[in-house]
Amino acid sequence: MLKHTRPKGTQDFVPPQSGQKWLVETTFRELAQLYGYQEIVTPTFEHTEVFVKSSGVASDIVTKEMYTFTDRAERSLTLKPEGTPGVVRAVLENQLRLPCRLFYIAPCFRYSRPQKGRYREFYQLGIEALGEASPLVDAEVVLFGVRFFERLGLSDCLVKVNSIGCRLCRPGFKERLTNFLQEVNDGLCPDCQNRQKLSPLRVFDCKNERCQNLLAQAPVPKDHLCSECGANFDRFTAGLRRTGIGFEIDARLVRGLDYYNRTTFEFVSRALGAQNSLGGGGRYDYLIEEFGGPATPAIGLAIGLERTLLAQPIKGNEPSHRKLVFVLWTGEKELEVAQRVVEQLRSEGIPAQIAFDSPKLKRQLHLADIAGAGYAVIVGAEELNRGVYAVKNLMTGEQSEISASELISWLKSHIR
Ligand code: AMP
Repeated sequence: MLKHTRPKGTQDFVPPQSGQKWLVETTFRELAQLYGYQEIVTPTFEHTEVFVKSSGVASDIVTKEMYTFTDRAERSLTLKPEGTPGVVRAVLENQLRLPCRLFYIAPCFRYSRPQKGRYREFYQLGIEALGEASPLVDAEVVLFGVRFFERLGLSDCLVKVNSIGCRLCRPGFKERLTNFLQEVNDGLCPDCQNRQKLSPLRVFDCKNERCQNLLAQAPVPKDHLCSECGANFDRFTAGLRRTGIGFEIDARLVRGLDYYNRTTFEFVSRALGAQNSLGGGGRYDYLIEEFGGPATPAIGLAIGLERTLLAQPIKGNEPSHRKLVFVLWTGEKELEVAQRVVEQLRSEGIPAQIAFDSPKLKRQLHLADIAGAGYAVIVGAEELNRGVYAVKNLMTGEQSEISASELISWLKSHIR
């Protein structure tokens, strides 16, 4: 009987999944740098107000999902439920020069009902472009997301975009929507009745079928944009068309956070079930000002790592891709040579391992198998005298003799 298990809603990443996580993160890092984003690392917890002020008092995150605790000095702190607020806080506190483009990879925490694709601890990969106002930046941020999924070989991904207006046009729209919601109030679920009072736009996020049916006739933000927001959205979608990526306008895409304005977008996987949103984001042109900074336009994107992995398990762990070389030895003298060989392989960039516990070849081969090695280089006494090594392909069982001077180039050409 195990004495300890992981907390509900959390995951262990063990090999080979941990290797896939690494691949996703590396892909993200490389792409972000190609688009001019630099890494930012912020604390795992912040003062609670940082999230309440940004996500919005009525958001699901703030009302139901935050891991909030009081520390020993009676401060209210909260584990990061999403990336953006901490980044904005850090940009201002560190007085970074604007415009700036930043990326992060960080664990986030939300107390929600765990299910496939929804966890209490999960990783977000995000980019934030602060200080850039053009809707063409919005198109580039969406393009970034598409390129990221492409690089990972995820083809089943749909791009949805929308505009939710600005300070000028949103109040008028909210009033229309509220009037509509009052008319259908009795048919709405209790959550939506509540949303109607606090943050009416959020009703579009409701998953309840009855609400969705009632909302079929509801006014949508895109039909009530001011002329500037309308022109902005047109330029955004024209920019997207120029990139050649496919997308869909979803007039009901509002996203669950208070700080968004104008552009919102989402990446949806056709390969996933209920939790099918791979990532999304939008503009947040007012947030920096609300945090006490100068009026600064900004846009961000966050991708969920676990859902990316679920949508298409990434290849690279098949036996034929085994890259590890195990160096085997048969006695004390050969061990000395084997240690030099293993270090030489590593310095040449070839992953290599040696086991020290037993001189028995059978035992060492067994350990090579457990480690998932693709090749074994055997340092034997008789072969050493002839200046060769026996090299065994552990995937096929084939064995050949390779001269010591050619070992590196032989392995490099054989390991895929
Ligand atoms: P959001 O900040 O809610 O827009 O989330 C951005 C992305 O993070 C989503 O599209 C998901 O891929 C991922 N995500 C959000 N919440 C969770 C969760 N509880 N578990 C796993 N992934 C999540």
